[in-house]
Amino acid sequence: MNSNIKITKTTNPKEKPNSDKLGFGKIFTDHMLVMDYIEGQGWLKPEIIPYGPLPMDPSTMVYHYGQAVFEGLKAYNTKDGKVLLFRPEKNFERLNISNERLCIPHINVEDCVEALKVLVELEKEWIPSSEGASLYIRPFIISTDPFLGVHPAKTYKFIIILSPSGAYYPTGINPVKIYVESELVRAVQGGTGFAKTPGNYASSLLAQARAEKLGYVQVLWLDGVEKKYIEEVGAMNVFFKIDGEIITPSLDGSILPGITRDSCIRLLKDWGYKVTERKLSIAEVYEASANGKLDEVFGTGTAAVISPVGELNWKGNVIIIDDNKIGEVSQKLYDTLTGIQFGNVEDKFNWMTEVK
Ligand SMILES: *Cc1c(COP(=O)(O)O)cnc(C)c1O
Repeated sequence: MNSNIKITKTTNPKEKPNSDKLGFGKIFTDHMLVMDYIEGQGWLKPEIIPYGPLPMDPSTMVYHYGQAVFEGLKAYNTKDGKVLLFRPEKNFERLNISNERLCIPHINVEDCVEALKVLVELEKEWIPSSEGASLYIRPFIISTDPFLGVHPAKTYKFIIILSPSGAYYPTGINPVKIYVESELVRAVQGGTGFAKTPGNYASSLLAQARAEKLGYVQVLWLDGVEKKYIEEVGAMNVFFKIDGEIITPSLDGSILPGITRDSCIRLLKDWGYKVTERKLSIAEVYEASANGKLDEVFGTGTAAVISPVGELNWKGNVIIIDDNKIGEVSQKLYDTLTGIQFGNVEDKFNWMTEVK
């Protein structure tokens, strides 16, 4: 597979950014991987080409109807000079789950992991080495037929782009303020909530913008029917520690099945915590807070890894969680997961894949 990938190198390499200017998702490396799909021929051979604009007809389907899916993961530099990926096969397996919902043809998971390794190896000088920084990886698929009919496309492009990104918490972990959205909804059962597809994000922007105006960082979504049960936060799954038990909403079709979520559940169970996946109402969380039993709330996702929640606002009722500090479980999960990812903590679940 590796030797199969045709590489066309850029003749115009960019300057690597200073590690203090990275931020998130603003800088892209010199090359990208592109693989086309044509109905009747399947996915063609992937190629690595110089990073740059894609010439596309204005009638290209993805511009009009959003038939597209994406993924997000990271590559890490370890202190002993290795390059590691965190559970990359899980991202491509999930891409196929999203593909199925969006009528996009399946990709081959193993081939995609191998192709990603070739791309990351080629671009390894771009992986930042400053504390907590990493190379963000964005695989995505778009429908490319020049056609205005509402129908699954016959041609697609699978692309992987890479973006060096700074530490999510340059000044240490800070608990975030979250607004509980009680009017707009993100997803319903039978919809596309479990798929990583751009439309879910487009429909979340209004609530996010309103929350920001009120001084909140993100939105906590409730279920789309009764607006009673907790779903997830922006691009993070959410966990609650109530009276010693750790509870997270069950995956009922409207929630994105996070790989960080799955990893946290495994670690917590391994450490002997009681972890329950079930429906959890926002009223139950507020009641636990009133009774002094809401120990911790935290979000999980690739970008932040763990994001402690210090404040919730639901219909104007504000609760402060754990004195706006980082809880013990949040801290332990953050230290363990980032420790495994950067190669400083034993990888006992075999989650890391080396790029070489
Ligand atoms: C990507 C994403 C997550 C987090 O998934 P991870 O695999 O942990 O990064 C959670 N919610 C939504 C809506 C997402 O798109």
